[in-house]
Amino acid sequence: MNIVILSRSAALYSTHSLFTAARRRGHYVRILDHMHCELVIDTFVPKVLYHGERIQHVDAIIPRIGNAATTYGASVIRQFMLMGAYTTMEPTALHSARDKMSCLQILASHNIKVPTSVVSNTFQSDHDYIKEVGKLPVIMKMINGTHGVGVMLGESENMVDSVLEAMSRAKQKMMLQRYIAESKGADIRVLVVDDEIVGCMKRQAREGDFRSNLHRGGSSQIIDITQQEREIALKAVKVLGLKVAGVDMLQSVQGPMILEVNASPGLEGIETTTGVDIAGKVISLIEKNKQKD
Ligand code: ADP
Ligand code: MG
Repeated sequence: MNIVILSRSAALYSTHSLFTAARRRGHYVRILDHMHCELVIDTFVPKVLYHGERIQHVDAIIPRIGNAATTYGASVIRQFMLMGAYTTMEPTALHSARDKMSCLQILASHNIKVPTSVVSNTFQSDHDYIKEVGKLPVIMKMINGTHGVGVMLGESENMVDSVLEAMSRAKQKMMLQRYIAESKGADIRVLVVDDEIVGCMKRQAREGDFRSNLHRGGSSQIIDITQQEREIALKAVKVLGLKVAGVDMLQSVQGPMILEVNASPGLEGIETTTGVDIAGKVISLIEKNKQKD
């Protein structure tokens, strides 16, 4: 097969892992930077140009679209779909999962538990938003943040007010969220490919932090999750319309709660922690779907 990985850099672990998995299985594979793809929209002959070259005969694409490129990335995916390529992520699913607000709304609408969260365009300092989510401390996070950057713990009313005010002045969309203290700096990352759980790990924040992201110095170990956790993770990925996803889940006193679902989950942490060839599972997903054509 002729596979294209859309990624900003071939040097990224996940990109490299997908590339070698595809090669190992005998496919022809290329990495294209979606930000350098030019699109010719035409009812009969849609084209993608890459540094002047016309990209043709693509069987499948694996989009790895970062936060800064969601809109353009979605257009590039749609263009390849117009040209008949199979994609491991559809543009609508990318949009639903990308922003933490729409992701939580969609999950809540399907009765999946999420931490109570408040979103506002203005965050007026005379409104009591803390009351809406519970009590201090509360979580403040950037709606488009990733890798734990922009996720903060607000310990006093003053601090919460000033951070939210400063961020909304800087046009940074923020969310206030109930702090799930009982998870004690740990969360569960569940990797789902093709409606199946292919790897789970428990991540623990380093001493003095509550964010368990490995990029923030968290540590990870393999974990067996409960049947209930499995069902919730699979349902979350399904309702968002994703085929490859990383679900972040907290163990709360009210049962499992989903924090977010990542549409381009990093593979390094999960592959090294679990020893599972997750990239290979993504290639299998493509092979299975192209056989159906
Ligand atoms: P990011 O996209 O930056 O990974 P997350 O919403 O996943 O953002 O938050 C990063 C980490 O911060 C989580 O993995 C978790 O460890 C911690 N965290 C986030 N929200 C909460 C919360 N409401 N209660 C407790 N811990 C949280
Ligand atoms: Mg996360």
